Amino acid sequence: MYRTHTCGELRLSHQGQQVTLAGWVQAIRKFGSITFVDLRDRYGITQLLFNEALNDKLDENPLGREFVLQATGTVSERSNKNPHLPTGEIEILVSDFTILNRSAVPPFTIQDDTDGGEDLRMKYRYLDLRRNVLKKNLELRYAVNRAAREYLHRHHFIEIETPFLIKSTPEGARDFVVPSRMHPGQFFALPQSPQTFKQLLMVSGYDRYYQIVKCFRDEDLRADRQPEFTQIDCEMSFVEQEDILNMFEGMIKHIFREVKGVEWDEPFPRMSWEEAMWHYGNDKPDIRFGMQLLNLKKPEGVFPEKQALSELINGAGFRVFDEAETVLAIAVPGCADYSRKQTDELAEWVKRPQIGIKGLAYIKYQSDGSCKSSMDKFYTEERLLQIAAACGARPGDLILLLAGPEEKTRKAISELRLEMAERLGLRKKDEFKALWIVDFPLFEYDEETNRWVARHHPFTSPRPSDVETMIKNSPVIENPSLYLQHPYARIKANAYDLVLNGNEIGGGSIRIHQRELQEKMFQALGIHAEEQQRKFGFLLGAFEYGAPPHGGIAFGFDRLCAILGGSESIRDFIAFPKNNAGRDVMLDAPSPLEEEQLRELHLKSEIQH
Ligand code: ASP
Repeated sequence: MYRTHTCGELRLSHQGQQVTLAGWVQAIRKFGSITFVDLRDRYGITQLLFNEALNDKLDENPLGREFVLQATGTVSERSNKNPHLPTGEIEILVSDFTILNRSAVPPFTIQDDTDGGEDLRMKYRYLDLRRNVLKKNLELRYAVNRAAREYLHRHHFIEIETPFLIKSTPEGARDFVVPSRMHPGQFFALPQSPQTFKQLLMVSGYDRYYQIVKCFRDEDLRADRQPEFTQIDCEMSFVEQEDILNMFEGMIKHIFREVKGVEWDEPFPRMSWEEAMWHYGNDKPDIRFGMQLLNLKKPEGVFPEKQALSELINGAGFRVFDEAETVLAIAVPGCADYSRKQTDELAEWVKRPQIGIKGLAYIKYQSDGSCKSSMDKFYTEERLLQIAAACGARPGDLILLLAGPEEKTRKAISELRLEMAERLGLRKKDEFKALWIVDFPLFEYDEETNRWVARHHPFTSPRPSDVETMIKNSPVIENPSLYLQHPYARIKANAYDLVLNGNEIGGGSIRIHQRELQEKMFQALGIHAEEQQRKFGFLLGAFEYGAPPHGGIAFGFDRLCAILGGSESIRDFIAFPKNNAGRDVMLDAPSPLEEEQLRELHLKSEIQH
């Protein structure tokens, strides 16, 4: 062994002991003939003291930052103690040392507040990983991993690996493909998830499966996504939705207890998809704060059971509202004193292409109970006060209103709600609020192809009460403009998402387990019989041999870790992530292949490198 102790281990109780440490040189400080070195390893930092006797040797073997050093000496009490370091009461009086390896000058400082930019740190990821911040993140990731395994093991789940070289599993993204050398012109796909395998395992009788597993999705990179990411993937047999929710609510609570010491006494609330869209404008609401939407107008047929308060805005001659499909408002607490400049800035914010709303109206519900508004010309103060009241506003609040097409406006106000909460410090990192979203629509309508697409994936079953509707009705949409009236538009999925602080951290469903219903589903999605057989023949076949009722869920492991670590970025919790252009800048991948390799794979590249 190169060492007797680690750099985080020694205390005053070790005083007088002869020890050997090995680690990296974090910092060197010279005071006359005495040299102090901070030696770092995974466990901490220990101060080394080199006195005069070692000066000659130090001159011959000068130390530098990040050199790998082995030092032997005696543990002694420090005269100048450092209360911020666990080892801060002692230092090692070095009697001898060996440089185990030298280091080039690192391209950025290896400390908490490093001077290295993101690109540079990605290129030298192995150095960045030496920093405490990233080390803590990887330790947290491991703690989450362990807690999940512990819980699942205790509940009789077994981990079973499934293959990576497969045929496509549709999760709504493009596949990464792998050319086959042995079978010219043929390709494997990397799994977007182990979905079909875990279902086959249920058919095989492994009634509680899990896997902490890589998934691969070739998506245009949206903010903070990774083309390969990790899921805690689970499946159970002989269960209903309620059983799954209880089991995995238990797992999340266990993880929080183990990793963060957070106790959740109450059950996670449940909210239907429709309620979430109506009150928050999206299906992963952040419920750490209020600011629920006021629905002032909506198109007919959308949210058929809901009533918008149109009487509050109608008949005033305000064309923007009269012509819009949808009008929505939120009350932002304590912002009635926003200046013209500030409201103008918000108007610009919603006009940005990512949001794309033409303008923003506001009502300042002032502390004295009066109202000032950008719509003064059209609405009486009485009416403005009514809108404020309907919004749940209190004196001192600023009411923001957006108008436009339904989908866009709902999305926009939901973004605005989050933005305002962020500015007001309402999205607290150390506060955790989870909820289940249930009763998603089973289908979404795709205008371009005039077809239904699966909202989750094609293996999700309808709610038991909607199975009849699905079987009895044809999926064909005769009149595209009336698609909302098609019975399929009302079918709800037996699916659920777990949302934590405004992030979807898990999602799953009770599956279809009968061949006929699965065929009907494929048919509804426009997958004809020949294609069904070609792509999913194995699954349809398996359903003929006693497939049990089953369902499951998968959690985004990277995201869960990031939230537990109080970070926005999943990259910080992955040892070797891709950058935001989907590249590995350290490896410089993807990269072109040699001609020879292309030939072996029976491929031709059209691009000249
Ligand atoms: N396979 C699904 C996904 O990756 C999760 C599930 O339905 O269990 O989203």
